[in-house]
Amino acid sequence: MALAPQHSLTRRGFCLCCVGSATFAATGGWLTPGQVFAEARALVGLIRSEAATAQIKVHKLRDNVSVLEGSGGNVAVLTGPDGKLLVDAGITASRPRIAEALASLSADPIRRLINTHWHFDHADGNAWLHDEGATIIAHENTRRRLAMAQRVDDWDFNFPASPTAAIPTEVFASEQTVKVNGSTLALKYYGPAHTDGDISVAFTDADILHTGDTYWNGIYPFIDYSTGGSIKGAIRAADANLAATTDKTIIVPGHGQPVSNRSELKDFRDMLVAILESVATLKEQGRSLDETIAAKPTSAYDAKWGQFLIDPAFFTQLVYEGA
Ligand SMILES: [Zn+2]
Repeated sequence: MALAPQHSLTRRGFCLCCVGSATFAATGGWLTPGQVFAEARALVGLIRSEAATAQIKVHKLRDNVSVLEGSGGNVAVLTGPDGKLLVDAGITASRPRIAEALASLSADPIRRLINTHWHFDHADGNAWLHDEGATIIAHENTRRRLAMAQRVDDWDFNFPASPTAAIPTEVFASEQTVKVNGSTLALKYYGPAHTDGDISVAFTDADILHTGDTYWNGIYPFIDYSTGGSIKGAIRAADANLAATTDKTIIVPGHGQPVSNRSELKDFRDMLVAILESVATLKEQGRSLDETIAAKPTSAYDAKWGQFLIDPAFFTQLVYEGA
């Protein structure tokens, strides 16, 4: 399978999570750390330039909540007289188009930003949104990660510490309520899941749940073991999302088609559970990672879930690591 970053990036929006997979796919085998690093750096540049021209699609959800698709993770927006509140920040290079999309929703100034976790494709826009007037809210581990350089082993990539303006100033450990624009938002920590700082954001009046990267709609997810994620934590988070929603809830995933529902979420959770079981069985039999990948434990799911940048081999590796 050839590397087709332009296609992939424009199709679903970027996820840096995908760098490892893309480099694998480009060569048909794992690169040396130096090669991966060079590839990753090239992709970061590509992603930034791609984000500069990416179209931002606006989906109106319910009440005064919308979602912006096209720059990194899906961005939820609550409008109203207290000012706009955003859930996740997109990529800085998309600023003109994100600003345009936000202006198309209302003239309210930007006042609050919630980060679902620390990853680049969700927090890169923090600094400019802060400069526009946003107070940044996040889990305490997200602030800790953004404030220091971070290394993600599966990308062989080092992220520098974020500038002061990008660091969340309101943090919490377990739960937080935000009342704004006549709405009550319930923020809840999952515990270690996709990273060690993931939170959900429930718009309780509109019955909308933003899951951050604990849910990828119709595509294999990245799991960031370097900063506290694991497959078992990801499954616990998927169970928490199921418990927090009904058939009427609109669910906004971190990646993938941004207007989702509980039935699609359940498919995601069941996929994670089934693949963990298959991979764990192979690992218990003493199979190496390469042997486990060769056994294709994801094959029943690949046609549906393996079409984005986390390909079957890379996802198998991510599951094997925590099986
Ligand atoms: Zn992420």
